[in-house]
Amino acid sequence: MVRIFEHRQLVVASHNEGKVREIRELLGPFGVEALSAAELDFAVPDETEATFEGNARIKAHAAAATAGIPALSDDSGFSVDALDGQPGVYAADWAETPSGRDFGLAMKKVWDLVEAKNASEPRAARFVCVLCLAWPDGHDELFRGEVCGRLVWPPRGEKGFGYDPMFARQGEDRTFGEITSEEKHADSHRSRAFADLVKTCFKDKPV
Ligand code: IMP
Repeated sequence: MVRIFEHRQLVVASHNEGKVREIRELLGPFGVEALSAAELDFAVPDETEATFEGNARIKAHAAAATAGIPALSDDSGFSVDALDGQPGVYAADWAETPSGRDFGLAMKKVWDLVEAKNASEPRAARFVCVLCLAWPDGHDELFRGEVCGRLVWPPRGEKGFGYDPMFARQGEDRTFGEITSEEKHADSHRSRAFADLVKTCFKDKPV
């Protein structure tokens, strides 16, 4: 049976500042205080699964068990049609360098591979987000959202994070790096998954 979220606080089970900021913005209207796993100094669990759902579960259950209150995780990624869905769940890994994550490099890698394939324009891509709301007793609820669009090169915009500067959603010329966070939340993989979570687990929806 679906479980209703009736707490005033939850832990955002992420160490990714961009995700934590967006989730806090989405939670804002619901009066839920969002603590962050990074600010609480929680350990970062290994993401050992090959699916968004599997990794979202790992992160949410680890944080809920440590905190003793519900935790909300986000496992997300970027899938490019011409690359058979890559980088997909490995979107963050493609940015790894010995001195930390470099998304300029990751975006260039994506673009170079698509160019090498001579893929036809528009070059379709999508962001995927799976949210997992987990309780300390082991119960969880999962929600998936996707947003489709195309690759943009060179990357544009300083807003957002990760692959945002090289992605424009369908019907939009500006990239996710150029639009405001309010505009992004109007239709994004994360806001779609979140809307489903609200519909399912939040009793008091804002009017
Ligand atoms: P993970 O969920 O920790 O595996 O990381 C997902 C990665 O996908 C992030 O580090 C970003 O690079 C990318 N990603 C997920 N959502 C977004 C988004 O909204 N904008 C840009 N990049 C994103």
